[in-house]
Amino acid sequence: MLKVDKIIVTSEEGDEILKELSLTIKDGEIVIMFGPNGSGKSTLIKSIMGVSDYKIKEGDILFDGKSLKNLTVSERAKMGIGVMYQQPPEISGVKLYQIAKYLEENDDVIFDYAEKLNLKEFLDRDINVDFSGGEKKRSELFQILLQKPKLLLLDEPESGVDIENISIMGKVLNEFLKKNGSSALIITHTGYILQYISAKRGCVLMNGKLCCSDEPEKIFQDIRKNGYEKCGKCKCEDQ
Ligand code: ADP
Ligand code: MG
Repeated sequence: MLKVDKIIVTSEEGDEILKELSLTIKDGEIVIMFGPNGSGKSTLIKSIMGVSDYKIKEGDILFDGKSLKNLTVSERAKMGIGVMYQQPPEISGVKLYQIAKYLEENDDVIFDYAEKLNLKEFLDRDINVDFSGGEKKRSELFQILLQKPKLLLLDEPESGVDIENISIMGKVLNEFLKKNGSSALIITHTGYILQYISAKRGCVLMNGKLCCSDEPEKIFQDIRKNGYEKCGKCKCEDQ
């Protein structure tokens, strides 16, 4: 479904952030990504979605066999890619209910997700404006689930969310993935999400390159024990 093929991504100033990075995600596959701050995780997600000023200097990103390189963000969204951002934007003048209705006709579905994600009283507020960190994350999850993407890109979905709401989000997300058979790339620092999502493959992004492909739980335990230091020595590229 997704094939990131040896991409070199540079910042506007020309610094290389992703260095010949390759990653394949199959239909219905869930991949968990770890990596220290600044290793390029958010850059990878933004490059797949095409939301940034980054340049793909070399390589290509294919979705369902089609290159995304020259497509706009909305074209990529229409193909079935959805993103939950690490730092969700605030959108004044548009109510959460309005975007929900745009994404999903059926009010029953909208209110069901709003109820499950503790967002009912937020529906008539401007999207993410003055929401707390955790409320923004729940609002983002709400929107991406209503979008029903074939591929979900989740950038640290649980960061800033309290334990109780992580559990709620994890369960709702797991239910969605199972029901829809969507693929997902989930970036996590805390590893809390692993309790709720059954993923077989994890990987680590270090310095713009992938290394250490293994079971997510095993990678997480290793990182907790040894830090990221050892991960750099594992040279399993082209995953
Ligand atoms: P992560 O999500 O893994 O913490 P990011 O993808 O946000 O990391 O950033 C990767 C690296 O690229 C960081 O060192 C960051 O400072 C740098 N970077 C990100 N965006 C830009 C930019 N627009 N210009 C220059 N450097 C950038
Ligand atoms: Mg990031």
